[in-house]
Amino acid sequence: MSTDGWAGGLMDERPGALSPMRRVPRGAKLVLATNNRHKVAELRAILSQAIVGFDTGAVIGLADLGLPSPIEDGITFEENALLKAREVARAVGIPAVADDSGLVVDVFGNAPGVFSARWAGAHGDDLANLELLLAQLGDVLPHHRGARFVCAAALVTPSGEEYVETAEVRGHLLATPEGTGGFGYDPIFQPQGYSRSMARLSPEEKNAISHRGRAFRALADEIASVIARQR
Ligand code: IMP
Repeated sequence: MSTDGWAGGLMDERPGALSPMRRVPRGAKLVLATNNRHKVAELRAILSQAIVGFDTGAVIGLADLGLPSPIEDGITFEENALLKAREVARAVGIPAVADDSGLVVDVFGNAPGVFSARWAGAHGDDLANLELLLAQLGDVLPHHRGARFVCAAALVTPSGEEYVETAEVRGHLLATPEGTGGFGYDPIFQPQGYSRSMARLSPEEKNAISHRGRAFRALADEIASVIARQR
């Protein structure tokens, strides 16, 4: 089989490690450790804006390598973001960025939190997660519906450098979904200072205020410096 256009980065085949064996496309300098296509699109847009000369062509996602996301078995956003970035950087052999994010609802003692993606059971079933949360909020009065999105953004290099930044956006939860943009809980989250749900904001408006936008902008200098050191 020809390996033209691919270089280095053999996968680890230990039990539990990311597999199967894959090669990294030539020119790739950063891997986004997520299979969530919405997050990949948001991260590309956020980093393009935050880093002068950012080359989106040098960024690959796990889907480009046919790899699953690492299992998130931490109990904080920071732990999960770091474990995903660590696992992917080690397995792929280039610097990796990962985020772990979720919705934190004041009256629910910070749930669903790190369990936001699997609140209704199946990981990533956005509609079921949103419907379950709405049902649970049924008789919670509007002025008790405070919530925030939280994001921990991590950067890890194969040589073991580690950086992590956490940010949030506050708002409140609506009684009915509004809008079709974004993903996840966006249709029921109205950011503070806005009269529209997150799902009604343009991608640029969302990225400017979002937990993910804020966390990755805080990490932008480190990401730029790590990319600049790649050949
Ligand atoms: P993760 O992939 O484990 O970080 O899961 C994050 C989960 O939190 C997503 O599946 C969504 O349910 C929720 N979430 C995180 N960020 C956002 C956002 O920007 N909008 C809406 N929901 C989000």
